[in-house]
Amino acid sequence: MIIKKAFEHSVKLFRKVLAGKDVEFKFTPAKHIKMPTLSETSIYVHIPFCKNLCPYCPYNRIPYDTKLIKPYVDALIKEIEGYGKVYGKTKITSVYFGGGTPTIIGDELTRITNAIRKNFNTVGDFCIETNPNDISEKTITVLNDCGFNSISIGVQSFNETLLQSIGRTYSINDIHNAIMLAKNNHFDTINIDLLFALPGQKKDDLAMDIKRVLEYCPDQVTYYPLFTFPYSEISEYKQIKYVKSPSIFKRRKMYYQLYDTFKSNGYSKCSVWSFKKDNDEKKYSSVTRERYLGFGASSGSYYETHFTLNTFSVPEYISSINSKGNAVSLTMNFTKRLSIFYDFYWRLYDTVIPKKRNLEFSSYSVEKNTHIHIMIKIFLLLKWMEKGKNEYRLTRKGCLWVHFIQNMFSLSAINTIWSAGKKYAWPKEVKF
Ligand code: SF4
Repeated sequence: MIIKKAFEHSVKLFRKVLAGKDVEFKFTPAKHIKMPTLSETSIYVHIPFCKNLCPYCPYNRIPYDTKLIKPYVDALIKEIEGYGKVYGKTKITSVYFGGGTPTIIGDELTRITNAIRKNFNTVGDFCIETNPNDISEKTITVLNDCGFNSISIGVQSFNETLLQSIGRTYSINDIHNAIMLAKNNHFDTINIDLLFALPGQKKDDLAMDIKRVLEYCPDQVTYYPLFTFPYSEISEYKQIKYVKSPSIFKRRKMYYQLYDTFKSNGYSKCSVWSFKKDNDEKKYSSVTRERYLGFGASSGSYYETHFTLNTFSVPEYISSINSKGNAVSLTMNFTKRLSIFYDFYWRLYDTVIPKKRNLEFSSYSVEKNTHIHIMIKIFLLLKWMEKGKNEYRLTRKGCLWVHFIQNMFSLSAINTIWSAGKKYAWPKEVKF
């Protein structure tokens, strides 16, 4: 406990040193919404409904409620139209639907994608998250009609006992049918999401999961560690089930097991958690874009100069959009230095750090930015990184440590912000 606290304090101090002493890591209520001109951005749409609320899930999700679907989609469309008035000419490089379970709203997806195409200049991929028990021929037809060309299937594991231990309700047969339906329906990219470091999961269980997923030859596989956010029910759930999550040492072994097996099967790293086929150009990703506009309850928008966050409450989101046209509850200003650090953080997540980054407001060169250059030198010294002609790349060891460090960074910050968002529809101030 003491070591964990000391580590968290060091992370905070480190963050402060990088971002600058004048930077306050806090969100405050949004009085005026600044909307700077952007030449390009991506879009995120949040659909918060789920039929089965998984106990480990930290995301903003609520039980599927048919009465709420139409008002929620109506509000989403109003929000899209509002932002379209400002960013209608901006190039939209990708559109991502996450949740919740976006496919749960069926045909209503068409209304949303039509509104996005009508109000924005979309030039990139349309990506969507799905669940094995929610993929049917009908769903796939809707996705094809909406123009989704990239799909992610949240399989989590091919082991039914482990699936039950995390509250997942589908069978191996459902998983097989879902993957085959996706494979037979012309998606450019199929990503399969899996979890490791599950309570009770052994090395052999992981080996079996990897073997099963490789049999399907997906374009990309994303392997998340099971996050144990304090506000998800997993802690309580673990006690009820008398199971223990793997230790940090076991997790390290599992991470290397993943890294080595995928490498030797023709996959390369495309983020600290993802592997894509060596010959594939495209990559399925949600969070590592330079800028994004977020629509829906709890969605965030990142503009480089500031970050805004919508209210997490679905009823409040609907009523706020209907009464004032937006549902932004919190905002945080970014200095140029902080936005450079933020971008560098996500490039570390990508595992490839270009030497020069051309951004809208905060372009930088990693070799000319003193703080980042010091970090790069330390990473090189620790053999966490290798130097290429135009980029730096994380090594196997670097991927593991960045994965651990980002876990600490993200968990403490996201935990504080999301906890406040879930507790209060309109939080007063959130420091992290
Ligand atoms: S893990 Fe996915 S399906 Fe489960 S509750 Fe969370 S968002 Fe819904």
